[in-house]
Amino acid sequence: MKFIAGEYDVAVIGAGHAGIEAGLAAARLGCKTAVFTINMDAVGNCPCNPSIGGTAKGHLVREIDALGGEMGKAADQCCLQARMLNRGKGPAVHSLRAQIDRRAYSTYMKHTLELQDNLHLRQAEITGLEKSDDGRWLMTTRLEAQYLAKKVILATGTYLGGKIYVGDVSYESGPDGMFPSKYLPDALEKLGMHIRRFKTGTPARVLRSSIDFDGLEEQCGDEPVVPFSYDTIVPPENKVKCYVSWTNEKTRQIILDNIHRSPMYSGRIEGVGPRYCPSLEDKIVRFADKPRHQLFIEPCGMDTEEMYLQGMSSSLPEDVQLAFYHSIKGLEHCIVMRPAYAIEYFCADPIQMNRTLEFRDFEGLYGAGQFNGSSGYEEAAAQGLVAGVNAALSVLGKEPMILDRASSYIGTLIDDLVTKGCSDPYRMMTSRSEYRLILRQDNADTRLTPIGRAAGLVNDDRWRSFTEKQAAIEQERQRVQKTVITPSDRLNEILRACNTSEVHTGIRLVDLLKRPELNYEILAEIDTQRPDLAPNILEQVEIEIKYEGYISRQLIIIQQVRRLEKKLLPSDIDYNAIDGLRLEAREKLNKVRPDNIGQASRISGVSPADISVLVIYLASVRGKKEQKDDNGNT
Ligand SMILES: Cc1cc2nc3c(=O)[nH]c(=O)nc-3n(C[C@H](O)[C@H](O)[C@H](O)COP(=O)(O)OP(=O)(O)OC[C@H]3O[C@@H](n4cnc5c(N)ncnc54)[C@H](O)[C@@H]3O)c2cc1C
Repeated sequence: MKFIAGEYDVAVIGAGHAGIEAGLAAARLGCKTAVFTINMDAVGNCPCNPSIGGTAKGHLVREIDALGGEMGKAADQCCLQARMLNRGKGPAVHSLRAQIDRRAYSTYMKHTLELQDNLHLRQAEITGLEKSDDGRWLMTTRLEAQYLAKKVILATGTYLGGKIYVGDVSYESGPDGMFPSKYLPDALEKLGMHIRRFKTGTPARVLRSSIDFDGLEEQCGDEPVVPFSYDTIVPPENKVKCYVSWTNEKTRQIILDNIHRSPMYSGRIEGVGPRYCPSLEDKIVRFADKPRHQLFIEPCGMDTEEMYLQGMSSSLPEDVQLAFYHSIKGLEHCIVMRPAYAIEYFCADPIQMNRTLEFRDFEGLYGAGQFNGSSGYEEAAAQGLVAGVNAALSVLGKEPMILDRASSYIGTLIDDLVTKGCSDPYRMMTSRSEYRLILRQDNADTRLTPIGRAAGLVNDDRWRSFTEKQAAIEQERQRVQKTVITPSDRLNEILRACNTSEVHTGIRLVDLLKRPELNYEILAEIDTQRPDLAPNILEQVEIEIKYEGYISRQLIIIQQVRRLEKKLLPSDIDYNAIDGLRLEAREKLNKVRPDNIGQASRISGVSPADISVLVIYLASVRGKKEQKDDNGNT
């Protein structure tokens, strides 16, 4: 018999990476919050690589942390090994990546949810979702308990209609042997939501003692480790080594000989897979000229002997998997503990949502994470935080928190999803941002902590340390501007050694730091008045000095774009009634319903000429309104 088991301000369906941040954000803003999970032992589960961060994803983690989210803290606590990627390239693309302990991460997240005020974590499969008579959302569980909530966030990951494929075998399942969410897709379709099928895959996990590490390239972490979280005082330690190996001609031949047995190539999988995270068979077919592909052998945790084979995902039958894994150096005798598999699932078309991640046609219903068509833990967590904050702000009757593209990778990710949609699982990359020099991982707090504070997510302690850090940065900026270094034999000796021109009159420290050949470390001996500052402060000041020209050019562009973003488009605008808009533009604008001219200009199929028509239309509407007001006043 159905009964009402609980009433909430915000309910989150899912306790994966999106659901966790959504639930914590809503509860931390004071809303009574429920977080539902199919399996309580898989909160914050990493069904693929137990690693957090990486190129562009590391930026997302820093941004989540700067806004007051949890992912960065958890990754620091559960870190096994960390490296700053792309150090050889410019600072815009430096990205932190940490191998983490999968079980410890899940335990940390579950416990954090359990300890959070205003939050109830519940194991229950939501099977029904409908609007109740009083306008709230009514959720029904598999056991027929019912819950009411003012706002619901869908963060169902790869569980929604999940189906696993290994060769000819397929069966309904969530990841890691969990139950799938079998009934919710029908409820969503009944509401009139447009859902579609995507797929992703994961490699095998193998037994550590069965790997022959002799001759494999070792990969160690950076020393000292740079933490993700601005709250982490004691940096994590590197506890493990990872290893590198390569596929070879034999691997390639085994896969090509058996490609017809792949459910992807035989057409049995209909879902669209991630373009930037292809399976091994995909790589071998698509990049036929490449003689070998790299793989990383990485530990899954301190209390397990499972090793993850990054780069080796597959949906080929188990016998083929064994054959090709055994063809690889170091894995000749490996024992596969979990075979690779592909999983197909339902997700929503994010074009149905606005930038708060609320569905335009379903008031009070939000989407986040894999459910919105993205792929990746960090992408999921970022959206979860935004959906959770906005659901809570809406309950509290406050203005939403909308992050624009110039503020963050999170803003870029959401703008891409809701403006352009995605035809395959969306993954964050630095190339997706047009403001890379501004959106660096070192300055995520400068960009976002004030926004997190305004939303109510940044606590007093964090705010105090943030403002102290900003003051120290400002002081140091002023000091390097004012400090004049007098020429000396030692200075010129250093300059010659760095292949940069000598100085014969006094020179400002800032002008020395601007030179690409020099940095704080090299000048330390000369810069005797430098206060004892944290490395992250020096890093930020130095980057801003070196790239000042590029940064100010990007800032000018941002100002111009933000002017367009201020030209708001009414939500009830009838694009069919605007003369001069092309048919394609009308269709796209009606579908996306952008908030402003800036967003409209990024919709594919809306041309600059259409934007001019919209600008003229807005001016004429404003003119008519002003005329009406004037007439009314006289
Ligand atoms: C096999 C596999 C391979 C992957 N490979 C990659 C990869 O190569 N690269 C990459 O970046 N990402 C990969 N991912 C994706 C990554 O796991 C997800 O992007 C990430 O976990 C998404 O987080 P999420 O919070 O959206 O969903 P999930 O982490 O999947 O969490 C979903 C949550 O929703 C809950 N749930 C679902 N339905 C219901 C319901 N009806 N009632 C109650 N609770 C429900 C579940 O219990 C779970 O708690 C892979 C995932 C899988 C499964």
